[in-house]
Amino acid sequence: MMKGSIFLAVVLITQGAVRHVPRVEAARIQTAAQVIDIDEMPTIPEANKDIKGLKEGDIQQKNENTRNTIETNQFPEYIWPDKKIPIVYGMETTALTKAAVDEARREYELRTCLSLPIRTNEENYVSIRVLGGCFSSVGMQGGLQILSIGNGCEQMSTVVHEFMHAIGVWHEQSRADRDDYIVINYDAIDPDLAYNFDNYDFSETDDRRVAYDFDSVMHYGKTAFSIDGNNSIVTRDPAFQDVIGQRSGFSAGDVTKIARMYDCPQPLRVTNHEDFETVLIGGYSHVGLNTNVKWLRHVLGESSTLGPTTKDLPAYDATHGVEGRGSFLYMDTSKGFPGQSAFIKSMRYTTNVAHQCLEFSYFLRINVGSTFKLYIYLAEIDPLDGEIIDFNSPLWSQTTSTIGGPEYWKVKRMTISAPSAYRLVFYGITGQYYDDVIAIDDISVVDKECDTGYLTIPEYSNLMSTYEPDQFYQSPVMYTGNPGYAFQLLIYPNGWQSSIDAGFPGYMSMYFRLIGGSYDDELVWPFDQQFIRLVITDQGPNPTERLNYFYNFLTDASSITLGAAWQKPAGLGSTNTAVGYRTFFFNDRFSTRSYLKNDVAYFSVQVTDMRNYNESESSSSLRNPVLRNSQESMVGEPVDWPEGKPQPLMAKEDFEYNYDEEREKEDEERDDVPPGMITVKTGLLVVVITSAIVFVVMALLTCVVAKSFRVKQKTAPAVMTDVRYGPGLSKEHHAKYSDRKDIL
Ligand SMILES: [Zn+2]
Repeated sequence: MMKGSIFLAVVLITQGAVRHVPRVEAARIQTAAQVIDIDEMPTIPEANKDIKGLKEGDIQQKNENTRNTIETNQFPEYIWPDKKIPIVYGMETTALTKAAVDEARREYELRTCLSLPIRTNEENYVSIRVLGGCFSSVGMQGGLQILSIGNGCEQMSTVVHEFMHAIGVWHEQSRADRDDYIVINYDAIDPDLAYNFDNYDFSETDDRRVAYDFDSVMHYGKTAFSIDGNNSIVTRDPAFQDVIGQRSGFSAGDVTKIARMYDCPQPLRVTNHEDFETVLIGGYSHVGLNTNVKWLRHVLGESSTLGPTTKDLPAYDATHGVEGRGSFLYMDTSKGFPGQSAFIKSMRYTTNVAHQCLEFSYFLRINVGSTFKLYIYLAEIDPLDGEIIDFNSPLWSQTTSTIGGPEYWKVKRMTISAPSAYRLVFYGITGQYYDDVIAIDDISVVDKECDTGYLTIPEYSNLMSTYEPDQFYQSPVMYTGNPGYAFQLLIYPNGWQSSIDAGFPGYMSMYFRLIGGSYDDELVWPFDQQFIRLVITDQGPNPTERLNYFYNFLTDASSITLGAAWQKPAGLGSTNTAVGYRTFFFNDRFSTRSYLKNDVAYFSVQVTDMRNYNESESSSSLRNPVLRNSQESMVGEPVDWPEGKPQPLMAKEDFEYNYDEEREKEDEERDDVPPGMITVKTGLLVVVITSAIVFVVMALLTCVVAKSFRVKQKTAPAVMTDVRYGPGLSKEHHAKYSDRKDIL
């Protein structure tokens, strides 16, 4: 039954290939969809419970004499040479194993300088096997060594964990100084298994000057090896009791440790990230671009001197999501007449891979009927001097007609295909209103594709307080490609009444389901061997420090219970059974990290087609796209606003016009200069005038910058408000269930 008329505006943020559906189709409360639940992945000790001879649950040792540690001065032979850990797959490994390992390989390349290439003829290598558990040796053993990703271990974070053993890292709680931070509760541990909580002194282990890391993917969960359900590990600070045992991936501390251990200069995959928190604004610059007006930096707590008044500007930024803290860029609309343009370009960015995920936050508070426009360009640059040669088609744009819904910082993500060196350009055109707000913040480009689809739900706590159990929020229809499979996410903010009755209240449930889409007749059915990862996104501003929360599974059309869910839907808009997790996430955890920022929740889903899997390409090239016509079709879309290209540059030297006749002729023929742009045709005269104007604006801007710099010096250093640790989440009745999700 529909609950009242609560329609929550939803913004579907997806990569380009996903179709946007009319807003009326967007989410609404539904009840009792047909769903099937998958068991959550077991913890590593659970997966390993029948395996004998493993130390600390998942460490394989040949014998005591070969114990190895991360103390590399004593044990240098355990360090992999050339920052590479070659891998081979055992015959029995499945598509699910390989999909999870590939996710981990990407993480190693993104966060560390290590890579896990497919072995060619290297002497030392890791053989990935499915041996009924998850375990590894610690450090390089010489020759072949086994790393098992058994049934139930096929999650990126588990693979990351086991490979951290393989490169020479022990569990976090076996550090020499662990007793300063945790208490081992031996009363809850079988004495025969107590050796699993041994720790090692500094002659054997090296903490790499990283503070004890409750966040580490190498830390046990609180009930590891517990025989009675009580906590076997008690954190001395209760705030960390539910932090330990995270199952998301590398922590910042893990990354630092590996970098120091392997002398890492930088990761193989690059992350460019700018949050505009300092006056340097990450090297973003107006120079060399024809701006009538400027993008200005607004520091919250200070008054704006140009453009919208302080009361019109957002009261918080995208980075912190907290009132009065942080800063962002906004466009100067103070002139109050239409057609004023403002460019800002990034510094020269580089990349090592073919596809990247571009992500940025924007805030638009626009008067109805305003003629404003906002464009993002991926600009081609001169390989030598880095100057912009061509803007190319806009990656994305916004006009009055494309915005809507509640006002908050929105995140746009899109998979792009950047050249090895490039610049991003943010180009705005003012409308006729001086109080239009056009603001940007938190721009990042990560050397990895974006997820397949994103679902943004603002005012999420409102859902948590108003939705009854069994009621769900249904995402708009998303597509895996163009053409691609149509699907939806179902979010049950308060889970299921049956779960509550069974003693597990307080969970949200998350499901994936196929829905009849526009391309169904062009696709291969059934929807088989698809790796589906359901994610709650950590909204920390820096993509490399996020700990997303997720579960994944592989579709199997031959399954007796689930097979029907992956058959071709009956017709357009007809839905199949949804598949997912009844106890996906414990709701109290929304208060930890940045799973909820400014009351906005972000969910995402990654769909990877494993039917044509090529293991040697997968870690460096496009993640097996799902039956697209062409990989190019996803790049740079959508371009629904054919406003043409802005004029690249008037001159290499700022404000010195220097064109030749051929160029002039070319430009005369060009009729695609968007409104508000200065055409080359009007050339010199305009340059003289704008130079004068710009000089004045620059002078004013200099004052602003100088002022903000002075204020910056007065204030205390900015503190990240990323909400990392909530209060202790000690609800006894959920302990059993939530712990099943913790990784050791
Ligand atoms: Zn382990």
